[in-house]
Amino acid sequence: MPLSDITARITAACRAAGRAPDAVTLIAVSKLQPPERVTAVLAEGQRVFGENYVQEAQRKWPGWRGEWPGVELHLVGPLQGNKAKAAVQLFDAIHSLDRVALAERLARVVQAEGRAPQLFVQVNTGAEPQKAGVLPDEAEAFVARCRTLDLAPAGLMCIPPEGDDPVPHFRLLGRLARDCGLDMLSVGMSADFEAAIAEGATHVRVGSAIFGDRPAKD
Ligand SMILES: *Cc1c(COP(=O)(O)O)cnc(C)c1O
Repeated sequence: MPLSDITARITAACRAAGRAPDAVTLIAVSKLQPPERVTAVLAEGQRVFGENYVQEAQRKWPGWRGEWPGVELHLVGPLQGNKAKAAVQLFDAIHSLDRVALAERLARVVQAEGRAPQLFVQVNTGAEPQKAGVLPDEAEAFVARCRTLDLAPAGLMCIPPEGDDPVPHFRLLGRLARDCGLDMLSVGMSADFEAAIAEGATHVRVGSAIFGDRPAKD
């Protein structure tokens, strides 16, 4: 779908929810996409992109950033501790702060690098055993722990369980964010970004609706 269709749908969803059209940031999730699809979207004017894998992003983005000024990069996939330094150097935002050990590591790296990406705490709203994220009833304590480390999370992020109605998960995340005194909500993907905007999303992470289906990771 052309980028302009997605931005028009975001604007319409904001209007319907009585929200300002610039209240929502579109993150174009370009993981695993063929390069020509990504450069086409850069040429259409999109500047905010999401990636899942640190090494893939390190290969792709330094060159494109040289060609296309103003790119903002968001890490939306899980972050291993040993990639924390590379992630802080490359990304403007990290949406997968999901455990105390990672918070401690990021706090040290942010100090050492003098560079602090915007941080989202990932919450496992469905309490799925295989999924990353702090549990809902641990979110407030986790955010407080981050603050004692001098990290200042900007918001919360979740990925609702496959097959579930996502809306209750968006609502739960919104309530938790309010309890934590946080303004930003990273929710909504290709299938549900309009519903997420109705529930207060400030960042929607849209991949396949913009770029088409992506090849499987090998
Ligand atoms: C891949 C991915 C997306 C984009 O998913 P689509 O369904 O292609 O829009 C969003 N968020 C995260 C965390 C992802 O891994």
